[in-house]
Amino acid sequence: MNVPKSNLPRVVVIGGGFAGLNLVKRLRKLPIQLVMVNKHNYHAFQPLLYQISTSGIESDSIAYPLRMFIKKQQNFYFRMADVKEIDPTHKIVKSDIGELSYDYLIINTGTKTNFFGNKEIKKHAMPMKTIPQALNLRSLILQNFERATVEADEEVQRFLLNFVIVGAGPTGVELAGAIAEFKQSVLPLDYPDLNSELMQINLLEGADRVLPPMSEHASKKSTQFLKELGVEIHTNTIVTEYDGKLAKTKDGKEFASRTLIWSAGVIANRIDGFSEEASEPRSKRYYVNEFNQVKGYSNVFALGDVALMASKDYPRGHPQVAQPAIQQAVNLAKNFPKILKGNKNLKPFVYNDKGSMATIGRNKAVADIKKLKFGGFFAWLIWMAVHLISLVGFKNRLVILITWIYNYANYNKGSRLIIRRFSVRKRRVRTNAEL
Ligand SMILES: Cc1cc2nc3c(=O)[nH]c(=O)nc-3n(C[C@H](O)[C@H](O)[C@H](O)COP(=O)(O)OP(=O)(O)OC[C@H]3O[C@@H](n4cnc5c(N)ncnc54)[C@H](O)[C@@H]3O)c2cc1C
Repeated sequence: MNVPKSNLPRVVVIGGGFAGLNLVKRLRKLPIQLVMVNKHNYHAFQPLLYQISTSGIESDSIAYPLRMFIKKQQNFYFRMADVKEIDPTHKIVKSDIGELSYDYLIINTGTKTNFFGNKEIKKHAMPMKTIPQALNLRSLILQNFERATVEADEEVQRFLLNFVIVGAGPTGVELAGAIAEFKQSVLPLDYPDLNSELMQINLLEGADRVLPPMSEHASKKSTQFLKELGVEIHTNTIVTEYDGKLAKTKDGKEFASRTLIWSAGVIANRIDGFSEEASEPRSKRYYVNEFNQVKGYSNVFALGDVALMASKDYPRGHPQVAQPAIQQAVNLAKNFPKILKGNKNLKPFVYNDKGSMATIGRNKAVADIKKLKFGGFFAWLIWMAVHLISLVGFKNRLVILITWIYNYANYNKGSRLIIRRFSVRKRRVRTNAEL
């Protein structure tokens, strides 16, 4: 990977997400050679991906170039690489661009979409875990509107305008609300010759209520908001098949749709090479102790979504959201000077749950903050403030704030652009020449 040799201990950080970023920011002043490796050259702010899919914001405004962090920093290197394997015996990271030795390794590789082994669903469904995937979804939604406009057959129009979202966690709920707003405010203006009544949004959830990780109150309120927006909610509904045209559920329901969005679960981005005991087989998360050390490897750490730290309050690990990733990074950074000196007196990690939120569209959100549970306009304001503050980069914050104000004032979703057409048949991006 062409990183110069030095006399300093080499700390390799894999992943530039919430955990990786918050860690490197705090390790930079230590006497170490710091190397960050990430698949892409940017950090992606995943909580706002759904707004890219639904044309609310531009993709650039939630991405931040990781090389911005190495400005004026000595002994800090960034490499854009996909890590394929670790050799813990020889302390080597193996990637698609070469190998790199390490003294300390910190893995923050997050998660990917979990299709629970169903290859057919994986082939045909639309995931929304990365910026390219969110852009694919944006193209497909808009392509469906364009196709439906030129279709004479009402059944085909219904098929194109039926949006099925599987999984009613925060991502599914937010997507359903944003697509429903499209039906209300954009469709009648942009596609006046299309009967917007033909458009349906079906939200399918395996549990008995929407937003299962949040409170009963949040669930009830969001159900009310979604219904007001015209979203059809199907709880206790598990999708078993989808061939790109028809989704079938365990209880015999069928949904004819070209667009099935899969937000039903995630699985850790585990990297091969460690012993079987180092990770949980089902979730693939690395078992870590209260100092985030991977089981069986004292110089290897895992943080955030990819780490499973079982505790009394969280026997199955912390929720896979941004706060545990950030807080674990902060704690490890505080411990690192001691780790370098071989001092065993480390500070254990204690999670401070600051609460959870979801927005369901204009003026509507739900929030569980400690013992407070609320929903509506005030929750929506808090949701916006928290997301603005959490975004990485001043320019991104400014652009998002201006875009939100503009969209709010104009009932608009200004990024209704099909830049790269998405091929449904091949499930990949198509060039114009191929069409
Ligand atoms: C659509 C969506 C909405 C969400 N909304 C919220 C929300 O509202 N609030 C909230 O708290 N959380 C939300 N989350 C969850 C939150 O984004 C994650 O919990 C958080 O990103 C975890 O941080 P992390 O650092 O562990 O992993 P990530 O932020 O996922 O970062 C992992 C990084 O590792 C890189 N990587 C992965 N594999 C490799 C490899 N082999 N080689 C090199 N690099 C690799 C990736 O490119 C990525 O940059 C949402 C997630 C999604 C997908």
